[in-house]
Amino acid sequence: MSEKEEKSLNFIEQIIEEDIKNGKNNSRVHTRFPPEPNGYLHIGHAKSICLNFGLAQKYNGTCNLRFDDTNPVKEDVEYVESIKEDIKWLGFDWKDNIFFASDYFETLYQYAILLINKGLAYVCQLSAEEIAAQKGTPTQAGQFSPYRDRSVEENLQLFERMRNGEFAEGTYSLRAKIDMASSNMHMRDPLLYRIKHAHHHRTGDKWCIYPMYDFAHGQSDYIEGITHSLCTLEFEVHRPLYDWCLDNIIETQYRPRQIEFARLNLNYTVMSKRKLLQLVKENLVSGWNDPRMPTISGLRRRGYTAASIRNFADTIGIAKRNNVIDVALLEFSIREDLNKKALRVMGVLNPLKVVITNYPEGETEWLEAVNNPEDETAGTRQIPFSREIYIEHEDFMEDAPKKFFRLSKGGEVRLRYAYFITCTDIIKDESGNVIQLECIYDPLSKGGKSPDGRKVKGTLHWVSAPHALNSDVRLYDRLFSDESPDAEGKNFLDSLNSDSLQVLKNCKLEPSLADAKVEDSYQFERLGYFCLDYDATHENPVFNRTVALRDTWAKEQKKQD
Ligand code: ATP
Ligand code: MG
Repeated sequence: MSEKEEKSLNFIEQIIEEDIKNGKNNSRVHTRFPPEPNGYLHIGHAKSICLNFGLAQKYNGTCNLRFDDTNPVKEDVEYVESIKEDIKWLGFDWKDNIFFASDYFETLYQYAILLINKGLAYVCQLSAEEIAAQKGTPTQAGQFSPYRDRSVEENLQLFERMRNGEFAEGTYSLRAKIDMASSNMHMRDPLLYRIKHAHHHRTGDKWCIYPMYDFAHGQSDYIEGITHSLCTLEFEVHRPLYDWCLDNIIETQYRPRQIEFARLNLNYTVMSKRKLLQLVKENLVSGWNDPRMPTISGLRRRGYTAASIRNFADTIGIAKRNNVIDVALLEFSIREDLNKKALRVMGVLNPLKVVITNYPEGETEWLEAVNNPEDETAGTRQIPFSREIYIEHEDFMEDAPKKFFRLSKGGEVRLRYAYFITCTDIIKDESGNVIQLECIYDPLSKGGKSPDGRKVKGTLHWVSAPHALNSDVRLYDRLFSDESPDAEGKNFLDSLNSDSLQVLKNCKLEPSLADAKVEDSYQFERLGYFCLDYDATHENPVFNRTVALRDTWAKEQKKQD
């Protein structure tokens, strides 16, 4: 039995299995992922995608991709395309089941006419402000609109004139006639349609009235034959309206059911598309796919794999109560994945030149290095060694304390896969900065093996200077320094971390990285996981650090155990 099957069912799976057992909706399972094309998808959407497509897979059902494109003002074809690409990249396939709520505008219009005919909807001439002012409070009933008791004929006529574009925005709306005293504010004669003289990215100028989410969503579910309509908890209070619309519109036995689950919240992250859009528009990041963004395209560019995101979604599971997940758990899931897959290489980010004075000038030696100790099939590669190499500046210290096991004057260290070296001299510039070291090597320590049992404590990564690939490297930190940047009363822009991007120039990488391809991941030994960035060129490679190696999450877990 696989790990997955051993896991107990989450509450949605329990509902589904019960429905299948009872033959509800002919025991079909049909879910949908309904993004609004008003931004790029983020990691929260990834949770919803994994859930909806995952359930369809598990129960031999279908998952639709439905663009919830009922608001013409904020939507764009660019977003539609990016959403499709992100879902595919995550590893899911909607096959032929791609739909647009805008394709149902005519049907929805007919449903609205049905409600008018039943005396359950009316055309209201109050402004948005007046409607809000008359809504009452949860403990106090609202007031009836003066237009509530228009005749069916008058409503039909006015609704048609709304459709025909005879009225200005904000002057007329269609409202459901439900209950102005309901304890649920959403049931107090909610808006079903509003006028928007706006161009729609699919229907063009055909419509100037647009259905509200509450009127479009459940009916779209119905039209598509959805059985389980999964949404986040904020919609729990909308459910009575979801059911009210269907109760009054449809006559079949088949019925979709809305089920709410807790949205994904991550600390140190904002997830609202509106706020992400603001970061993009104000050039606070380089775009939707900036590697610091919590978008799927940003994570992808940062070096996250689809498998790591799916595993993350699986690990956090499905809950009924809102909570905040530690972003360290997301980092843990990418480390776990890359630890198994990523080839190990050596790169020096902050280079310090070392001349090995007893090594022959002009000679190159090729040494064997292990590609991935976690994966024997990954094999080995040859790396060049020569008289001049680079080590990490931080791996040398002039006045080293006792516990400093890296290089200092007179001290000996191992160069990984190469030789033992001892520092004999320090070369400084006029201001006293160390700019180069002279060392001698022990020819008998080839492969980094001790020739006589003597021990060295430190092992350093290095790169041969004449062979090194020059590269930019981008290091990332959290985009926000506040754990909850958009908590109430806070402006998320106030906690933007000004050090979230660090660009290092002239890093020295082992020459095998000249063949790196976008989305290949590498572990730079001792430094973290890296991948080639999209805007790298052959002449000017750029690597992104996906995540550092230090794994605070695993350590914390250990402490807690
Ligand atoms: P945002 O609040 O970020 O703008 P949204 O809910 O308006 O997101 P939609 O495009 O309407 O974005 O969402 C598509 C689907 O993804 C919906 O079913 C929604 O419930 C789900 N979803 C959105 N955000 C999250 C999240 N953080 N966690 C889980 N599911 C989410
Ligand atoms: Mg939404």
